[in-house]
Amino acid sequence: MRLVVASANPDKVAEIAAILAAAGVELEPRPASVPDVVEDADTLEGNARLKAVAIAEAVGAPAVADDTGLEVDALGGAPGVRSARYAGEGAAYADNVAKLLSELEAQGAATPEQRRARFRTVALVRWPDGTEVAVSGSVEGCIAPGPRGDRGFGYDPVFVPDDGDGRTFAEMTADDKHAISHRGRAFRALADALRPRSGGPVGGAGR
Ligand code: IMP
Repeated sequence: MRLVVASANPDKVAEIAAILAAAGVELEPRPASVPDVVEDADTLEGNARLKAVAIAEAVGAPAVADDTGLEVDALGGAPGVRSARYAGEGAAYADNVAKLLSELEAQGAATPEQRRARFRTVALVRWPDGTEVAVSGSVEGCIAPGPRGDRGFGYDPVFVPDDGDGRTFAEMTADDKHAISHRGRAFRALADALRPRSGGPVGGAGR
């Protein structure tokens, strides 16, 4: 089975390709001619669907897309689906992290228990006929008092996963992070969901 991947981020694509290869799925890059969609759905699944539908319809082949959010309990689940633009449209990662830390401080959320959070990823495959498979993966943790580490991206410097050893995601190697990460879990679940289908022809019977 071959899937056109909606993401143009080479690091993410390499990670997704490695995980889905285990299920016999090969990834094809998205054509440069397909414009970016406006990610204005109010759920992660909605945004993943917008991205996958745009590619599947433009290319006429099945497409895979994902969307991720950081949900912080003390902030009522924010930034959630707005994680990329928490500090405003086009915000830099550092601006989003600074806003997150200042909002938690404003709430008086000081202890790890008061700073509970999780990353959640929805991964979705869409076929041109409208058939789809959607799965999610999450990782529980807490928001650190300040940024630590220089690997990864986004909120990695302030996220301490429960399943780790106290390091933030930005202090881990990519392999250590993705063994327990939201995206690693979502795409391993997707690989499992696709495995029975991957022997069949693309877009044909066996889906
Ligand atoms: P996307 O849906 O993967 O583009 O993610 C939306 C936003 O969530 C990104 O702009 C990042 O701020 C944040 N994010 C997504 N995945 C991660 C991650 O693995 N670590 C840290 N932040 C992430």
